[in-house]
Amino acid sequence: LPFAELNLAPEVLRGLHEAGYVRCTPIQEKSLPIALEGKDLAAQAQTGSGKTAVFLVTIFQKLGRQENLADTSHALILAPTRELALQIQADAELLGRYLPLRTVAIYGGVGYNAQVEALKQGAHIVIATPGRLIDLMKQGIFRPHDVSMLVIDEADRMLDMGFVKDLRYIMRKLPPYSRRQTLLFSATLSLRVLELTYQYMNVPEEVVV
Ligand code: AMP
Repeated sequence: LPFAELNLAPEVLRGLHEAGYVRCTPIQEKSLPIALEGKDLAAQAQTGSGKTAVFLVTIFQKLGRQENLADTSHALILAPTRELALQIQADAELLGRYLPLRTVAIYGGVGYNAQVEALKQGAHIVIATPGRLIDLMKQGIFRPHDVSMLVIDEADRMLDMGFVKDLRYIMRKLPPYSRRQTLLFSATLSLRVLELTYQYMNVPEEVVV
C-alpha cells in the first residue's frame, strides 16, 4: 500500500517520501488504517518491521493538524531503553520535519537540565523511559493532563525489565483511556501484555504480522 493512499496531510506525506518511505511495510499496512481512525491498537511487531512509523505517523496526523496546539505534552511514547528512545526521537525529527511539533527524549543517566528546559518550553511529543519520566512527574515538571496519545513500545521488553509497576503508575496519572488513544507494540502479545492492554486500553484491535 503506498502512503499516498492513506489520506495523510501533505506535510506528513512529504516527510515520509523524503526519508524514502513510499510503500507501507506489512505492519504499517495493517495498523495505520486502524490507528488513523483513532482506535486503540495492540500490535505484534518486531524491531525492523517499521513499527515506529506506525505510531509517529498517527501522532503527526492527529497533532499536526490541530490549530493553536497548546505548548504542552500531547503525545507520550514509552520505551524500555535510552537507545530506543533516542532512535525514536531521531525518526520523529526526520519524518516530522515539516510539522511544527517539538520533541524531547527523557531518560536517566544524564543531567536533568536539558530535559527540564525542553519540557518547560513545551514539548508536544515526549519520548521517555519510565524511571526518569516518573521522577519528572513527581517534581511537577512533566505534566500528563494533556496527553491524548500514549504509545507503549516494546511492551514485553519493558515487562522483562521489571517496569510493570512504573507503567501502571504512569498510566494511572494520564487522562483515562477513554480520553486518549493508546497504541501498544510488542514482539509477543503474551498473556501478561494482553492483561495490561485490557486494563489500560479501550478494547484494542489486535494486529499480528
Ligand atoms: P523500525 O522497525 O520502526 O525500527 O524500522 C526499521 C527500519 O525500516 C528503519 O530504519 C526505518 O527507517 C525503515 N522503514 C520503516 N518503514 C519503512 C518504509 N515504509 N519504507 C522504507 N523504509 C522503512
